[in-house]
Amino acid sequence: MLTRKWVIVASVLSLVFCVSGFSAEGGDDLSDEDLAMTSMRHRSSDQALVQALLPASFSPVFSAASSEEVLVVAAVGDLMLGTSWPDERYLPPDGGATLLAEVSPILRRADIAFGNLEGPLIDGGTTSKCARNQANCYAFRMPRSMGRYLKEAGFDVLSLANNHALDFGVEGRESTKRVLDQLGIAHSGEVGDIAYLTVRSKKVAVIAFSCYDTSYNLNDIEGATKIIRELATKADIVIVSFHGGAEGAKYQHVPYGTERYLGENRGNLRKFTHAVIDAGADLVLGHGPHVVRGMEVYRDRLIAYSLGNFTTYGVFNLSGPLGLSLILEVHLWPDGRFMGGRIHAVKQERPGIPRLDPQRTIIPIVRRLSQEDFGERAIQVQDDGTIAPPRTR
Ligand SMILES: [Zn+2]
Repeated sequence: MLTRKWVIVASVLSLVFCVSGFSAEGGDDLSDEDLAMTSMRHRSSDQALVQALLPASFSPVFSAASSEEVLVVAAVGDLMLGTSWPDERYLPPDGGATLLAEVSPILRRADIAFGNLEGPLIDGGTTSKCARNQANCYAFRMPRSMGRYLKEAGFDVLSLANNHALDFGVEGRESTKRVLDQLGIAHSGEVGDIAYLTVRSKKVAVIAFSCYDTSYNLNDIEGATKIIRELATKADIVIVSFHGGAEGAKYQHVPYGTERYLGENRGNLRKFTHAVIDAGADLVLGHGPHVVRGMEVYRDRLIAYSLGNFTTYGVFNLSGPLGLSLILEVHLWPDGRFMGGRIHAVKQERPGIPRLDPQRTIIPIVRRLSQEDFGERAIQVQDDGTIAPPRTR
């Protein structure tokens, strides 16, 4: 009863806030485009679809989400649906139309579906990245037509802050933003590009960091703290995405201190994630290592250190842990605290098609990594993928 009252009061307050103050307080950060993307989501009709398409071993997973109190976020790691560079051999045969079909019902069901777009959406353009040593260099270029398939899959917001967003220069990133704007997919890439969504009467800000100055930089902890503090005053829920950490099967653990890879400072991730939560972030979603890493709960907020590869078509190594993936379904209390959720196990079928994994291979791996790296702050992981905050002692 009390809870129901709280929801009504909160909804009324949110509406008043929405009408009277948010856009004004947002100042220059909220463009017309941002406001145009703002939308209420009504997705209950998708439930039947989810149940029809999921394998029998997957029970209906969104029962808790029917409550108006819960904000459901579905998050995945790296998305690269195929590249037309250096040539079209690395594109899926149907242009990507069916690539995400098996995982889409889960993404569509969420209030907010997030992913890291690991490359630009552009036709043509030029890259200076791989001019000299093509064999050991990767530049990605997804055709603009693939944007539609991201939309159809259910993605609401994408990170454009990573080491491939500028593979075709600023022109590539601008093209990507135009495609996403046309489709109504929010994005966060360069400094100043912050996504705002309105979901269940709540203002949600999504800000993406990488370890480069071409976006908000996770190595600038002071700067990160400042911008998160600012966002926390503008939005009800602040979601932080970061692309950081060393890459590959050897780097499944989250170390203490700074990670270096290929001569680059890939971040002190424990320090960064805790600092942004101290500053007001509610959920931290990491990616970059191309493998799934553990998860911890810090000050009642969930941190996923790496969501791994999700759909990385054509040119990626998918052997061992590099081919194991997940959809992280997170349920948040209205104030952003971590309530619980579910890991949907996914495995990429070569050359990069995400399939639901009935063996749930990734689940004991996440449990083990979380326990080994975070001890009593590790999330609890059940065999069916249900996740929960650590038991309080
Ligand atoms: Zn990357």
